[in-house]
Amino acid sequence: MKINQVYSILLGLSLVTSIAHAGLDRSVRTAENREPAIPRPEQDKVVVAKLAALEKKSGKKPNILWIVVDDMGYGDPGCYGGGAAIGAATPNIDDLARGGLKLTSCYAQQTCTPTRSAILTGRIPFRTGLTRPILSGDKLTKNPWADELSLARLLSDGGYYTLLTGKWHVGEAEGMRPHDVGFDEYYGYYSAQKEISQRVDPRRFPDLVNDPEKFKAFESIASDDHLVRGFKGGKTEEVSQVKSIEDMGRADKVLADFTIKKIKEAAKDDKPFFIEHCFMKVHADNFPNPDLGSLSAAKYYYKEAVAEVDFHVGEFMKTLDEAGVLENTFVFFTSDNGPQMDAWPDAGYTPFRGAKGTTFEGGVRIPGIAYWKGMIKPGRVSDDLFDLMDLFGTSLNLAGVSTDKLPKDRYYDFIDQTSFLLHDEGESAREAVYFWWGGELMACRMREYKAHVKVVLPQSTHMQIDMSVLQNVGLAPWLFNLYIDPKEQLPVGHRRNAWLATVVGKLKAHGATFKKYPPKDIGLGM
Ligand code: CA
Repeated sequence: MKINQVYSILLGLSLVTSIAHAGLDRSVRTAENREPAIPRPEQDKVVVAKLAALEKKSGKKPNILWIVVDDMGYGDPGCYGGGAAIGAATPNIDDLARGGLKLTSCYAQQTCTPTRSAILTGRIPFRTGLTRPILSGDKLTKNPWADELSLARLLSDGGYYTLLTGKWHVGEAEGMRPHDVGFDEYYGYYSAQKEISQRVDPRRFPDLVNDPEKFKAFESIASDDHLVRGFKGGKTEEVSQVKSIEDMGRADKVLADFTIKKIKEAAKDDKPFFIEHCFMKVHADNFPNPDLGSLSAAKYYYKEAVAEVDFHVGEFMKTLDEAGVLENTFVFFTSDNGPQMDAWPDAGYTPFRGAKGTTFEGGVRIPGIAYWKGMIKPGRVSDDLFDLMDLFGTSLNLAGVSTDKLPKDRYYDFIDQTSFLLHDEGESAREAVYFWWGGELMACRMREYKAHVKVVLPQSTHMQIDMSVLQNVGLAPWLFNLYIDPKEQLPVGHRRNAWLATVVGKLKAHGATFKKYPPKDIGLGM
């Protein structure tokens, strides 16, 4: 072979490499066990300096407050097109968006437990085994937390006071409770509202509440109905019990008051705080708080719940301000999945196709607002991709906890999005979002393109959970351009879009990470 032939082959290879590299996928893999990210060195540099200046001024690491609503739809808050227009004004959430960064492509998992575990582990639920909500009667074969390292533990070890208030829903047995997995303190309910209130709601569950034999049988498998307070390495006590639907209606005020009290205390302390406040509302079944009076124009219990959540969000922000920590606290407001349409009209609103329980946009695209006075430019809006798991990496960075502390024997799916959120013109470091349904890899979004290889289809109007089927797509994946078809109804198809192979290739590469890092089965089903 002549030397110029070798050169031409090498030139050809390098051309192929550069073409592949210059394609749709801008991400770079920096470690075998980490999700590839888009390098953003310039904005990273600016934000490192911004954070250092703040730390010099405040003398400590920033506080972190996550506000997680249960089952709130993308279209519920006013700043996302809902609010007063759909019967429940949300002035405080809207203020948060006006004063910070509103994300319009922010993604959760499609149900509660998967999202709640993913944001605390930085890992896709199929990896940790927490693939679906834990319900009354579920028997787990092993404790998923036994070998997981939670964000709460990492921050607690890194000098933070860590608290989870409200709904947990990631296991209620000893060893699985918030104060067993890293939180210094826990004050809340282990399960979802309906799991608790069904035993005191004869109107909705007469065959349970009014039948002593069935009621007794239910009690043996029922979720805990107590407000629980627990301390890491210390005692766990039952504060009170939900004995009526009115008690359930009052629950969120009690929880919000606790968080407010703790913010005030923690603001005076030398330690920075990490508080995850998880509302019980607006998950079905919603009951109005009888002490607060009517809060919404619509009067429906769901709408009353949206308005109540908004009220408490306003109180949290007022408390941070009055405690003098507004400029040193990163606040993130979100929902853990889309609206539960099976419970309509006790359900939220999404402008998208599908709902909780599906991997169409209605199930997974949720409100996401980052607020930080003086650190996030007011009025920013971004459609760049953000996965709620990214809160894991971003919070570690803010707390100054190195990712070197993370085990190397497992795969991490989070991306550190600190500079996306804090730079005035920040761009996302996430190239793709992957959508799972239990152990099924369903879809992938890159930029405005989303390809589905499997879909969940309701067989009756609204019944996305209780009467739906899981199906493989046909010969071609369903490829949608979300900018021209946000409702995912008109596939751009295999003939009309050059990016199908790239998006499906990305999805397959993601699936391949499970070969080296196998999933964990804890008995919830794979
Ligand atoms: Ca939920």
